[in-house]
Amino acid sequence: MAIRMSHLDGERGDWIPRTKVGKMVQEGKLASLAEIFTQGLKIMEPEIVDALLSNIKHEVLGIGIVQKQTDAGEKTRFKALVSVGNEGGYIGVGSGKARQVRMAIDKAIVDAKLSIIPVLRGCGSWECACDQLHSLPFRVRGKCGSVSIELIPGPRGLGLVAGEAAKSILRLAGIRDCWTRTFGSTCTTSSMAYAVYDALKNSYRVIPPSEWS
Ligand SMILES: [Zn+2]
Repeated sequence: MAIRMSHLDGERGDWIPRTKVGKMVQEGKLASLAEIFTQGLKIMEPEIVDALLSNIKHEVLGIGIVQKQTDAGEKTRFKALVSVGNEGGYIGVGSGKARQVRMAIDKAIVDAKLSIIPVLRGCGSWECACDQLHSLPFRVRGKCGSVSIELIPGPRGLGLVAGEAAKSILRLAGIRDCWTRTFGSTCTTSSMAYAVYDALKNSYRVIPPSEWS
């Protein structure tokens, strides 16, 4: 299946939905991402996200070079890591490979849109105890490979106490104040990004006391 790139710069133009959920979005029968997630439906077309999140933004977290040996010699490709979000409770992380940087980024944006998830925000900071959605309601943990990260609610005005990639993702998710703690020996941008994504995914999962630390 070829990925059409026409939607990438905000022009949905001639989107012809290929899935049932896509058709329902175009017909206005599904009017928000919240409806899609509460009904347990799957997003298989990036245009669905474009249609329902008008203020979606992306940030490039990293670009890498992938060398591959072929019969014709060495082939260079680029790998892009991207995060998408609306700064209001939705986040996605994705990656893409291509011969040109721009194409790799475009593919990564599509991948990130297909991975979009809701994030439960709140104020779980005892110093703050307000009713605004500036942080997380409680601690969450996430993992990717050997990297784990813990996101800890913080008071208003704290900012994001995190590395660059984690900061970008948290900001795009709409979290303005929190601490982070990372565990693990090797810490690539990519495993860090997916660990943060996993932690945010866990905001909608209640952690049993046996996993508290
Ligand atoms: Zn607060």
